[in-house]
Amino acid sequence: MIERSLREIASSLAERRISSVELTRLYLDRIARHNPALNAFITIDEEASLAQARAADERLRRGDAGPLTGIPIAHKDIFCSEGWLTTCGSRMLANFVSPYDASVIARFRAAGAVLLGKTNMDEFAMGSSNETSFFGPVRNPWDLTRVPGGSSGGSAAAVAARLAPAATGTDTGGSIRQPAALCNLTGMKPTYGVVSRYGMIAFASSLDQGGPLARSAEDCAVMLSAMAGFDDRDSTSLDRPAEDFFRDLVSDRGSRPLSGLRIGLPAEFFDAGCDREIIELVDAAVADYRRLGAETVSISLPNMRLSVPAYYVIAPAEASSNLARFDGVRYGYRAAEYHDLIDMYRKTRAQGFGAEVKRRILIGTYVLSHGYYDAYYLQAQRIRRLIANDFAEAFRQCDVIAGPTSPTTAFRLGEKAADPVQMYLSDIYTIAVNLAGLPAVSIPCGFAAGLPAGLQLIGNYFTEARLLDVAHRYQMVTGWHLQHPRGFDSED
Ligand code: GLN
Repeated sequence: MIERSLREIASSLAERRISSVELTRLYLDRIARHNPALNAFITIDEEASLAQARAADERLRRGDAGPLTGIPIAHKDIFCSEGWLTTCGSRMLANFVSPYDASVIARFRAAGAVLLGKTNMDEFAMGSSNETSFFGPVRNPWDLTRVPGGSSGGSAAAVAARLAPAATGTDTGGSIRQPAALCNLTGMKPTYGVVSRYGMIAFASSLDQGGPLARSAEDCAVMLSAMAGFDDRDSTSLDRPAEDFFRDLVSDRGSRPLSGLRIGLPAEFFDAGCDREIIELVDAAVADYRRLGAETVSISLPNMRLSVPAYYVIAPAEASSNLARFDGVRYGYRAAEYHDLIDMYRKTRAQGFGAEVKRRILIGTYVLSHGYYDAYYLQAQRIRRLIANDFAEAFRQCDVIAGPTSPTTAFRLGEKAADPVQMYLSDIYTIAVNLAGLPAVSIPCGFAAGLPAGLQLIGNYFTEARLLDVAHRYQMVTGWHLQHPRGFDSED
């Protein structure tokens, strides 16, 4: 059961070969057994999950089921979930039980999916290793001494260890794709505005986007079809017709299904900054794509090297403003002792936020302050435009851009924690995509010294269905995405 696709699980449920309660139990038991080693979940509420499973079984009995009815799904603890603790990985929200559902959660609820648990994450999604979580680091199921990536590391570890069939994540600078790469999963960051941000705790509002972390492109298509859609409660949600992201995946196009597809290979992606073994695996994947009929073209993204510096001005600027709401007055943590209002604010924020979050608030406040705004913030916005223009130019020459997702495989816990710049460079291949607002997917493309590596495919705006199809065609002829870590089998 734990290796079945979401569509196969849905048919098992529809045909009554298993009930949602049995399925939910199975995953809750796996979580009880394996989560202590991984720390992938912050909150589990067996009774609440089983109650949803019973309701789903009722729906299945009535014949009123959709593709996700009765399937347990784990959610990153950044999505407000009514009646559930929603911590965003922070002490600041360690006592916050959300009074409402994020739109993404509401959509899964309406689809009849079971909320399996809330997953661990870097504090306020700031990080690339899950080490900034107030609830402790998550461990990578492929090697427990290594990080799962971040910030959606709990979701990635949970799905990789088969503690959940699929999960949600959010991606501000790489937080879906990088953990997908480090844990051998398929993860997609949609076009900015495709998935509602309502109730998704804000980090950098112009960059944040929710998306799926799953075992295959096919599963991502099922997940994204549930997550995407217009929402008038998010002012940046795009009013587009509802889309079935699965539609292209089922067509039979013979042995060269991708003929006519032009894959752009940016010179900047294959430079010395990436581990040699990863470049070799990406090259081999590109060769597989040629066999599927695709042609490759050399392209250039000349301003990509400026993406990390521009991001580390823009994202902290937005974060410093978004995080101003955590002041101990309305909700969340409040310092136990203080003598006046200002002292309460100070102590609450000093005690409630961790070091990385404070660093970002300080940087963000600095770059927005009088006298520095033009020099840093405006300049970064100009670079952002140049990066978007580079992609626009590239998409005149190709349909999809391919390259590595992460410059390294999973690194050791503690290896980069003391050096923020090294940590920031983990996202060198993913950040430009967020700055431009484009969709991208990471898919497993092989192993280096036993650790998974990811191939990133970037598409033009609103080409999610195409990207998932391109990913799926590769997964039909390769088995990398089917590999799973040892020690988490059904019998273990
Ligand atoms: N690692 C990047 C950061 O720390 C991106 C995180 C994310 O995508 N949420 O900001």
